[in-house]
Amino acid sequence: MMKPVHDTGFVVLRIMKLRRFNNTARVLLLLLTVVTFSVQAVARSSRATNPALVARAEQVTGDRFALVTMTPQGVTVFARTVPRAELLKAIDRGFADLFAVAERHGYHNRMRFADYTVFIGRADRVKDSRGQYSPDIAIPAQQYAGTDYDQGGFIYAAGLVLAFNPCALVIAEHDRDLGRVSNVVRFEGEHLILYYNDRALYERTADHSRGGGHPILQ
Ligand SMILES: [Zn+2]
Repeated sequence: MMKPVHDTGFVVLRIMKLRRFNNTARVLLLLLTVVTFSVQAVARSSRATNPALVARAEQVTGDRFALVTMTPQGVTVFARTVPRAELLKAIDRGFADLFAVAERHGYHNRMRFADYTVFIGRADRVKDSRGQYSPDIAIPAQQYAGTDYDQGGFIYAAGLVLAFNPCALVIAEHDRDLGRVSNVVRFEGEHLILYYNDRALYERTADHSRGGGHPILQ
């Protein structure tokens, strides 16, 4: 079904090894073709898994999510390019922190890594208004129109909840400050955990245009 994308990295490594021994461009080209095909196969199977979810993510972000992979703990990750292993681990850390705090509150629904899907989209900005590294995604302002968040019809968000079933988040690509990735996952994940474990608190805290932020769960 879903084949982790890092398999592709393994193939690339093998190409590099083979190249040393073989040194013929034809072998390299042939192997590259195999890599390309395997990446496409992965993308196709991902689309077949949940085409509506992928389509929604692409609509919201304007990106094309050609790749699917999995974190070491089993979170499904869609991305435009192969995510670094460190980034995947940062996603896991965010969920681990989220589950830990949720457990302290006695929650038990949607507490497995495999319950979650994360889309890593292109950042629409990499610095915030103060010049700090802050890869964020631009999304339509909607209920945030006219608030301090409003940038003229859109807002910048570090992350957003894309869907509840399956539980899906969108975050932005990061090349550093991976602690921020963990935080975004942990914070946006709160909305999903609350939705399934404390609907009243979810309702009160879901819309930040009415004030409030993260963390919701201490
Ligand atoms: Zn939030």
